Amino acid sequence: MTNVVINKLVIIGVGLIGGSFALALRKAELARHITGVGRSRENMTRALKRGLIDEIAGDLPSALKRADIVFLAVPVGQTGEIMAKISPYLEPDSIVTDAGSTKQDVIAVAHSHLAGRLHNFVPGHPIAGAEQSGAGAARPDLFRDKNVVLTPLEETSGNAVDRVKELWEACGAQVSLMSARQHDKILATISHLPHMLAFALMNHVYHTGHGPEGTPCPNDPLHFAGTGFRDFTRIAASSPEMWRDICLGNREALADQIDDYQRELTALREMLARGDGDALEKAFASAREARQQWLKKTS
Ligand code: NAD
Repeated sequence: MTNVVINKLVIIGVGLIGGSFALALRKAELARHITGVGRSRENMTRALKRGLIDEIAGDLPSALKRADIVFLAVPVGQTGEIMAKISPYLEPDSIVTDAGSTKQDVIAVAHSHLAGRLHNFVPGHPIAGAEQSGAGAARPDLFRDKNVVLTPLEETSGNAVDRVKELWEACGAQVSLMSARQHDKILATISHLPHMLAFALMNHVYHTGHGPEGTPCPNDPLHFAGTGFRDFTRIAASSPEMWRDICLGNREALADQIDDYQRELTALREMLARGDGDALEKAFASAREARQQWLKKTS
């Protein structure tokens, strides 16, 4: 089946995800004209120079005129405000989709601001990314062999879902459909909790080796940190603004995950306190086995 070319794609938020979507669709020769809407002039100029977009939008009404697809790729906390701003200017046939890492909060604001247009709204989330942000970090292969989850509403039309699905597939991704609630629960486990842990560990180790004014103590532990610590904390380099919005947007599921994780940690701490080597070894062996099984399935 050949994909239908997009005459006009509007990307709101031309950063890592918006820019990579643009590059992947350009590579697939599926986007004739890409208009970018942004917040920072510097980032938008970089997006234009790198060829992610063909033009920087002057104003929203002209940007949205005759748009086939409107792709929102901004921190999720901005979504409601943007939907409210674009709603009066959307063409009846424009399909709106997003890349937000949380879905129930995005859908809630869509109910408020895109009422009457929900048949053409396809909530989505590419499970692909990096700790870098901005147009400079965009790459055409970011979504290759990665999962994209779409969480259509009851009102979303099958045609709109198919259209967005085929675009992600053209970017090289595998698309799954599930409910927003299920998505948020899964992502709290495998993405939002690990980010919380990486942020917490980085802060903890930094505070261990620095005085209240940020003065390094002699023998700052970070001076001796190796690749294991580097791997564990890689995602602590992610955008604080984006992660603030994700954690707040999925706060209930994330709080449950933190509680469950604390129980695991408490159990390990009790094994330590008892000096129970057998129990520790059993817990570590079970974790290693689970990781090996997971890698076998995904490679
Ligand atoms: P990014 O910081 O690289 O890009 C976001 C862009 O949006 C920035 O260029 C910023 O200037 C712009 N922006 C912010 N507010 C705006 C506004 N009101 N109007 C117009 N532009 C605005 O972030 P990203 O990594 O591309 O993330 C974008 C979205 O994709 C987020 O919702 C995030 O949750 C989601 N996401 C991120 C990842 C990841 O790993 N980075 C993965 C999957 C999904």
